[in-house]
Amino acid sequence: MESKANFLVTVDGDLRVGTLEQQEAGIRAIRQVHSDMGILGRTTWMINEIDFDWTGQHGRALLEIVDSGECLGVHDHQDTHYAETYTKAFDLMGRSRRRLAAFLEATGRSAALTAHRNGCAIQSEPLYQAAIDLGYTIVSDAWPGVRWYARMVRDGLPPSCWRRMGESDPDAILMDNRLVPLSAIPWRHGPCNWLDFESREGPLLQVPITCMPLVDRGRMESAFANSGSTAFLVLDTHPYDMQDPATGEVSPERVSEYRRSLEWVRDRFQPAFIRLDQVPELLPGSSG
Ligand SMILES: [Zn+2]
Repeated sequence: MESKANFLVTVDGDLRVGTLEQQEAGIRAIRQVHSDMGILGRTTWMINEIDFDWTGQHGRALLEIVDSGECLGVHDHQDTHYAETYTKAFDLMGRSRRRLAAFLEATGRSAALTAHRNGCAIQSEPLYQAAIDLGYTIVSDAWPGVRWYARMVRDGLPPSCWRRMGESDPDAILMDNRLVPLSAIPWRHGPCNWLDFESREGPLLQVPITCMPLVDRGRMESAFANSGSTAFLVLDTHPYDMQDPATGEVSPERVSEYRRSLEWVRDRFQPAFIRLDQVPELLPGSSG
């Protein structure tokens, strides 16, 4: 069977490395790669407003992203703030959503804010119930075949103050998505059954992450080979992946490695580069 590939570049708007200026340089560097590849307007930006104050500190960059037609989503690190109950998660997620919506309204822009990604791709009933109640309809957290520990904390020194907790940290959160096959295509679910990749009903559409933070060729090949008629290949990356963690400066080597990895995906699979908000209409069996 001839397979068709859709490739989603999803950029989590965490700005964890360097000064404000260096963070902006990281944003410009990754967008320059997208521009050179002709995919501006066909990527998705998940903005971490709570931790990095995009609307206050990076308003111009945010407007450029919106104005170039990218899908604007929200990326909340509930983990960083220990916002793991429904009440705390709903409060944190509501604040970021309201701040972004107010910024867009004040600048005369509109964006639907339908897509959401949890920090460290953590999945739980309270987080999904909060996402549903806030009006999100597309989520992208499942990481097929992977078991991982995580929680982002800011306890280091500049230029790289942030640390991901690991297995030895008692506060690390353990996730296990080994039951989800890499070939799973996006599925619909409710607040409790997010790992039920055969589910076709529910208020949330889960778009699983094929690889992060950079292109993993083996996982891409495997996902493509086994997805059936339509593959959705999802990269989850960050502006700071373009920066040298030791200095905060944009790293030409990292940028060219990123560029080469996207070119490899383009040449290998001839995919359509799409945004998260386009997934519903492209699912097999959709009438869209
Ligand atoms: Zn993140």
